[in-house]
Amino acid sequence: MCVKDTYRHKGLRRQLIETLKKKGIRDQRVLSAMANLPRHFFLEKAFEEWAYQDKAFPIGNSQTISQPYTVAYQTILLDIKKRDRVLEVGTGSGYQAAILAMIGARVYTIERQELLHKRSKQLLEDLGLEGVRTYHRDGYKGLPEFAPFDKIIVTAGAPSVPEALLKQLEVGGILVIPVGDVNQKMYKIVRESKDRYSETILDDFRFVPFLKGVTKE
Ligand code: SAH
Repeated sequence: MCVKDTYRHKGLRRQLIETLKKKGIRDQRVLSAMANLPRHFFLEKAFEEWAYQDKAFPIGNSQTISQPYTVAYQTILLDIKKRDRVLEVGTGSGYQAAILAMIGARVYTIERQELLHKRSKQLLEDLGLEGVRTYHRDGYKGLPEFAPFDKIIVTAGAPSVPEALLKQLEVGGILVIPVGDVNQKMYKIVRESKDRYSETILDDFRFVPFLKGVTKE
């Protein structure tokens, strides 16, 4: 982990926040969590320079840390209340999980690639972030032993909405998931009752694919 958070980093972060505001992000809690969390901790030291651009960036193993705008967008859709139990599918760098924890969620985050899982687990522990638990699991199965969740967020592009995730959502809960192959539309799904779900189809995004099964190091 890159341990220093200098005035320069803080300045770059303030600029990033201004950029996000210009793009329409208004939620104060989300903006202040993003202003406080050093995104460069989540990238390799050599790529530090890139951390404060509003761009996705490679984190190894053909995966990316989501674009800051996308992190803000998905977080706002989740409408997090203090102590909400949130399942994140696709831990990746751990950045999105950290933002969710900083705005008060109790986060359960799962990652299919063992190496990324181990790295992000270590980083989140080093940051001393309370309220994030990490698991090496397949998102198509969710995390049944801790279900139901108040909110579920998927950070990889899913060809369709996995049945297991719909089942693991609390009644009244919200699932935010990008659906589509190469490009995705963001779906916000609300579990209205035990058997009824409503869905709203929102903007276009491009995520790395939601793949089946787990990989070992
Ligand atoms: N939320 C991340 C973005 C990571 S990119 C961040 O803030 O950095 C998406 C991640 O989803 C990748 O790390 C990929 O390995 C993971 N992924 C893809 N399919 C998955 C699945 N079935 N289960 C769990 N994780 C999955």
